[in-house]
Amino acid sequence: MERMERHRFETEPYYLPVGDEVAQFEAAYAARLPTMLKGPTGCGKTRFIEHMAWRLGRPLVTVACNEDMSAGDLVGRWLLDAGGTVWQDGPLTLAARTGAICYLDEIVEARQDTVVAIHPLTDARRMLPLEKRNEVLRAHEDFQLVISWNPGYQSLMKDLKTSTRQRFVAIDFHYPPPEREAEIVAHEGGVEAEVARRLVAVGAKSRNLKGHGLEEGASTRMLVYAASLIARGIPAHQACRMALVQPLTEDEAMAAALSDLVDTFF
Ligand code: ADP
Repeated sequence: MERMERHRFETEPYYLPVGDEVAQFEAAYAARLPTMLKGPTGCGKTRFIEHMAWRLGRPLVTVACNEDMSAGDLVGRWLLDAGGTVWQDGPLTLAARTGAICYLDEIVEARQDTVVAIHPLTDARRMLPLEKRNEVLRAHEDFQLVISWNPGYQSLMKDLKTSTRQRFVAIDFHYPPPEREAEIVAHEGGVEAEVARRLVAVGAKSRNLKGHGLEEGASTRMLVYAASLIARGIPAHQACRMALVQPLTEDEAMAAALSDLVDTFF
């Protein structure tokens, strides 16, 4: 089954706000609106929801969506054990029952029939039909449904249907502005401010190559990876090759161009 983590955060997950996203999410949560975190991969969406769950004092149930995931995986199923059959709540049901925030990461990865299973929870009635159990669960008043969506990866096969999208309010995420991103990279990667600034500059240039031979530029996550390698003694060039160049391209000419880019900063 999909990876599932259930957390009540005891310490604050580090999150550096970039705009008004904290206030926006607090209002969305107060109104219990289904919420979509929209933005490229590795820009801080998951860290943000962890931080918000901590801030709001709610447990967080995270599900990394994939195409093998069925509605049963999300909602629950009957299992056989020595005593007979026992019902086991899936992560979505568990969150709805207990009043957690349920975060469905990369929802487009899930099949359409699985995505449709979340629709009744987004209605004003906030119900979840457990058909196999002959039960209609009314969501706990603290429950909230949150999904992430990266519109950049649009394709005919993998897009979020309008009928799903319009059930959510959206909070927009982008890579942070350079000073903020450098602060994040320094904090998360454990490097000096100057090293972080240079990594962020490489990242910004790589993002300009998006659509010119690169599908995506370096994400904040990749810059943090590069910083973490540097902090552990890997020379900057090599660290950048490992974290920023090789994962981004299979094309030799593009890899050479990216390496040249790294050379201008390190
Ligand atoms: P996403 O869910 O958008 O793919 P993540 O939340 O996993 O991205 O972000 C990747 C990493 O980048 C995080 O683990 C964290 O180290 C760092 N990060 C990105 N943005 C922020 C931010 N605003 N504050 C703190 N850390 C951030």
